[in-house]
Amino acid sequence: IAYLDRTVHETDGEPKPNGGVSTLSKSIDLQGRVETGDKTTIASKDFGGLYSTKPLALIKPAGSDDVSRVIKAASRTPRMTVAARGNGHSINGQAMTNGGLVIDMRSTEENHFRLLNINGSLFIDVSGGALWENVLTRCVSRFGLAPRSWTDYLSLTVGGTLSNAGVSGQAFRYGPQISNVTELEIITGKGDITVCSETRNPELFFGSLGGLGQFGIITRAMVKLQPAPDMVRWIRVVYTEFDEFTRDAEFLVSRDDGESFDYVEGFVFCNNDDPVNGWPSVPLDPVHGFNQGIIPQTGASVLYCLEVAFHYQKGDHPSTVDKAVAGLLKPLRFVEGLKSEVDLSYVEFLLRVKRAEEQAKANGIWDAPHPWLNLFISKSDIVDFDQTVFKKMVKDGIGGPMLIYPLMRSKWDNRTSVALPDSEIFYLVALLRFVSRGPSVEESVAQNREIVEWCIKEGLDFKLYLPHYQSKEEWKRHFGNQWTRFVERKASFDPMAILAPGQNIFKRTHLS
Ligand code: FAD
Repeated sequence: IAYLDRTVHETDGEPKPNGGVSTLSKSIDLQGRVETGDKTTIASKDFGGLYSTKPLALIKPAGSDDVSRVIKAASRTPRMTVAARGNGHSINGQAMTNGGLVIDMRSTEENHFRLLNINGSLFIDVSGGALWENVLTRCVSRFGLAPRSWTDYLSLTVGGTLSNAGVSGQAFRYGPQISNVTELEIITGKGDITVCSETRNPELFFGSLGGLGQFGIITRAMVKLQPAPDMVRWIRVVYTEFDEFTRDAEFLVSRDDGESFDYVEGFVFCNNDDPVNGWPSVPLDPVHGFNQGIIPQTGASVLYCLEVAFHYQKGDHPSTVDKAVAGLLKPLRFVEGLKSEVDLSYVEFLLRVKRAEEQAKANGIWDAPHPWLNLFISKSDIVDFDQTVFKKMVKDGIGGPMLIYPLMRSKWDNRTSVALPDSEIFYLVALLRFVSRGPSVEESVAQNREIVEWCIKEGLDFKLYLPHYQSKEEWKRHFGNQWTRFVERKASFDPMAILAPGQNIFKRTHLS
């Protein structure tokens, strides 16, 4: 690594291909592979499509020992940076490193898949490099079981989402994905292979959950399971008034288990015919669209869609399902007649964004740049946010979904590294732009910045989700009173963690 590092820095970032590869593999006795040159292209970009940086090498480890050896070797080389790469679905280069080593965790996907029964509770022990979609299909088909908490899209790795949080419409009940793991194996920044849990190395366990890949590399995770339902009724209803939408969404997420839907999300859409952000984006059943004529004249430029789902078994009588769903919908104040629903299998429901991905790929828009903005915003500030951002700044749409749904802070564990707003109920807001039409990348990035700056100026209680700051001051503000804990924890697992003032704290990513 020292040899490769020297050649890179002495030749202006252009590594001499191949020469150092076999030296590298041999010197650290790697079982997996080392790729350089053109074969590292995949690691020089991500889903965001906003940044491109060339790594020194792409390591495809065979397992934990390889990861450990690479990190130990890297830590002996002062300037060497290391980044774990899950499926590269970050937006702002979080899994990249400029002139450093990218460890491709997908190569470890098959290393672990074991069902565990511990005192009657069921868990799946999976690789940090496994895709959630494979965890889902294998757990359901083999055991009739499934993890409890998901992301909307499942072509993401276990280690990648656990390094952030992992949220979707089940998080109001079970908490984010980081609230649903009980043990991790982590290769720390010192190269130690360490098993951790709430009681065993708890600082490493909680630090890594939501730890942005800064405490080490997650090679294995033990994920809680529950019996998988057979079927899902997926329902969308429309609101014209923001306060009625939020009242109902908050009502549903605050109810006890068994008294609410199994999934609660929502989104903002434009009151026009735009195929991406307007009325056509709302009905679940393309054959029976909505009758827009029902919309009251009070309907503003943007409207709100509450999206819920109800789990049931194939053997349940249709009238029982209808009755249960009708009972849950009864107290809600959506516009009468503006309801759309479909029944589908549980696996189809959880893989719903994969179908959208296939369509978007066919239309050539999936690979467009994605300057996405994800925020957590306190309930107390969400009305202001709606007034200024949804009703004014993005009222004409953004070329992709505009998600908004409430989450419950009490379902998150304060000991993890994730920074959250203060209030018990806070909203996930996601502006998921696909820059193939409408505003350019520059305009989209500028508008995202304008939104964040407005939130800061107005003193909103908010945090960036999937944060990507560049300066130490911004990171300090992000973590607030968790800053000291984060830095101390990180230092104890990664001897190279803290750099000189002015440099970025994140030695192990591209951010320095
Ligand atoms: P990468 O982008 O490869 O890596 C992400 C970060 O994790 C990097 O810092 C990387 O260094 C680190 N990392 C990766 N693997 C490991 C590991 N094994 N150990 C330690 N650190 C590691 N998020 C949600 O919460 N809910 C959603 O519904 C949701 N939907 C999404 C839909 C799409 C289409 C996309 C593109 C993203 C979505 N995300 C969602 C965001 C997603 O969860 C994060 O971007 C996630 O980090 C991506 O996972 P990945 O496996 O591709 O990780």
